[in-house]
Amino acid sequence: MGDIMALHMGTHSIALDCKDPNSNLNFVSHAHSDHTSGIRKGSKVLSSKITQALLAVRGKPVTREDLPEGMRLLHAGHILGSSQLYAEKPETGQSAIYSGDYQIDASVVAERIETIDADVLIIDSTYPSPKVDFGDKAEIVADMQRYMKKTLDSGILLFGAYSLGKAQEIIRIANEAGIAPAVDAKTDAINAVYGANGISLDYASIGKDEVEFEAALKDNFIGIVSPHKLGRAAQRIASLYNKRVFTAVATGFAKIFNMGTDMQFPLSDHADFGQAVEYIERCNPKIIYTHGSNESAVVFASHLKRRGYRAQPLSGSDVHVAACDTALLKYPKAP
Ligand SMILES: [Zn+2]
Repeated sequence: MGDIMALHMGTHSIALDCKDPNSNLNFVSHAHSDHTSGIRKGSKVLSSKITQALLAVRGKPVTREDLPEGMRLLHAGHILGSSQLYAEKPETGQSAIYSGDYQIDASVVAERIETIDADVLIIDSTYPSPKVDFGDKAEIVADMQRYMKKTLDSGILLFGAYSLGKAQEIIRIANEAGIAPAVDAKTDAINAVYGANGISLDYASIGKDEVEFEAALKDNFIGIVSPHKLGRAAQRIASLYNKRVFTAVATGFAKIFNMGTDMQFPLSDHADFGQAVEYIERCNPKIIYTHGSNESAVVFASHLKRRGYRAQPLSGSDVHVAACDTALLKYPKAP
C-alpha cells in the first residue's frame, strides 16, 4: 500500500494502514506486512491488542494509543486481531468505517466480523469483480481434508502458505482431520500468539523440538512452508526422504490463476464480491470509497455503481482524503 490514505474526522486525521506525515493518528488494521508501512520504531498506533502482539513477534513493536472519543475498533474477520476502524463525529453523529482486509465468511482461526451502520465506507478491493465467487467454505475445507488424507497414504504434502493467518487456518483444518502439520520457527512464534488468545493449534515445530520434528518426518507428513520456498522445499524433501511430495496452496487467487502446484484450493481470508456486497448492505453507507491497487479500486467502484451504489475509487492522486463532511458534500446526488 504505497499511497497515502487518511480519514479526516473533526480534529483528527488518521493515517489508514500507511505512513502519512500530516496525520496525527496511525491506524493499523492488522499485522500483515502490506498494512504496516506506517510503523516506525516506537510508533504509537490505533490497533487491537492482538495485532500489537503479532506485530511484536514480527519484529515491529508498537505502543497502543487510546481510542479518541467516537472511535471504535470492530472485528474484521480476516485474521486474528484484524479490525475495522469506526469513527463518529460527536457533534454531528456523522460516521465512517475503514476496512483493511476483511471477510464475511467465518474463519476457524479469527473473530467473526462485526458490522454497523456508517455514512461513509472506505472498503478494500482485493477481489473487485463478480466473476470471483469462492463458493461454500465448508465444501472447500472438506475437499482439503479429503486431499490431505489421500496424499498422506502415498507421500508427503507441502502447503505453501503465509506464516500469519493462512498457516494457522490450514493447521486447524488439518487438526480437525486428526493431522498435526509441521511448521517452521516463524510460524511457531505466530502460533504462540494464537494459542495465548484462545486458538489452540496442534503442530510439530522445527523451532520447538528438533528431535520430535525429525521423528515426525520419518512418516508421511504435512508441512507448511512460505509460498516462495514451496518448489525448492518440495524438491529437497523428495530427495531427502525418497518419497513423492505433493504441493498445494490455499488462496482466493486459486480462482483466478494457475498456481503451478499439484492442487490449489480457493480458501480465502478475504471477501469475494458477493461477500463485499453483503458487507456494504450491512453497513448501509451513503457513499463508498474503494481502495486497493489503482486498477482493482476502479473496477470495484464501477461494478458497485452498476448495482446502484454511490461508489468512488480512492486512486489517481497522491493524497487520498475521505472526510465525512466533504464526502457528503461532494456527492450530494446519486450518479
Ligand atoms: Zn491481510
